[in-house]
Amino acid sequence: MYNNIDLFTQALGIENPWKIDKINFDKDAKQLDIYISHVKGAKFPCKVCDDKYGIYDTTKERTWRHLNFFQHKAFIHCSIPRIECEEHGVLQVKVPWSRPRSGFTLLFDAFVMELAACMTVNEIAQLVDEHDTRLQRIINHYVDKARAQEDYSDVENIGIDETSSKKGHNYITLFVDLEESKVLYVTEGKDSTTIDRFCLDYILHKGKAESIKNICCDMSPAFIKGSKVNFPHAAITYDKFHVMKKINEAVDQVRREERYKNDFLKKTRYIWLKNPENLTKKQKEKFASLSNMNLKTLRAYNLKLALQEFWEIDDVTTAASYLQKWYLWGIRSRLEPMKEAAEFINRNWQGIMQYITSKINNGVLEGINSVIQTVKRKARGFRNTKNFITAIYLRCSKLEFDLPEALAHK
Ligand SMILES: [Zn+2]
Repeated sequence: MYNNIDLFTQALGIENPWKIDKINFDKDAKQLDIYISHVKGAKFPCKVCDDKYGIYDTTKERTWRHLNFFQHKAFIHCSIPRIECEEHGVLQVKVPWSRPRSGFTLLFDAFVMELAACMTVNEIAQLVDEHDTRLQRIINHYVDKARAQEDYSDVENIGIDETSSKKGHNYITLFVDLEESKVLYVTEGKDSTTIDRFCLDYILHKGKAESIKNICCDMSPAFIKGSKVNFPHAAITYDKFHVMKKINEAVDQVRREERYKNDFLKKTRYIWLKNPENLTKKQKEKFASLSNMNLKTLRAYNLKLALQEFWEIDDVTTAASYLQKWYLWGIRSRLEPMKEAAEFINRNWQGIMQYITSKINNGVLEGINSVIQTVKRKARGFRNTKNFITAIYLRCSKLEFDLPEALAHK
């Protein structure tokens, strides 16, 4: 005879001493209720010492949300037995289908985590008809647990950058392992105390301050100060993309001043931001016509191209003399924005030169940041920054989650 109880016992992986007592299938409420208890005379291990005991009493019935059974919501009900351990007193026993204090089964957890890899909490909440804060607790649990198991003792090169967390002037700071391209830590703010907090978290994950060899960041005094205090052995490299952004801004400044006198420069902003080899066909034609004119913008642009060559140099002495020549060219250019750019290079000499030795940059942070901004936009805001930070860890930290594999049912 076909037997529902046997079927569900198998599907749920229920094993002795647990058993399914009855199954209630309510077609109108679209609900499936599974009642579980234990066999008579069953013994359960103490969850502290593993010694086995008979049942002391049972708690009042609890309910766990399980995976839907087709379009029906499914719930497991059980009065959890308690045992009295000689050493540890009266304790509830562990149930195999759920984490302690969770209102969901492990398979439901696994399903939610599977969805969370590509959906926002609100989208999941709609799909499974649950409150978003309950789902957020599942995600927080697994992300926190996975992060707690992370080992940072091999990390040597770190990239630091800030990104916006909300509309207006709210920032979070990201700490990225540049080798593995993964986010190690995220915290609110962009001042030097963000690095104090990272350092503490890093030590909690088996990191030693002296293992960090290189830190890559922009020219922010806060990051530099925090890095020097917390990681005195690390060399600081200024991110070449931030440096080039400054130079690009200077070129654009020259163009904007010159544009008023020269109509040919209208709508050419993006040409000067690119390298000649990256121009579109149309832009190339325009650029060719401009390059025959005696333009200030073109001189500024050539300065930019020359600075780009700097990053390709491998030898420190050659690089230093190249940068020195570039600096002199810049301050003698008779272009005010380029003179300022040259002074900027001069002020930040050491961190720029450090690139020749370390060859690290924060390029990977650009990709990570675009994932983060997409997450933020899709979520249309988070209930709090912790949830936002959890979403970043979920997608950008390459965490390993300890989940039952049983989404594909046995
Ligand atoms: Zn015990």
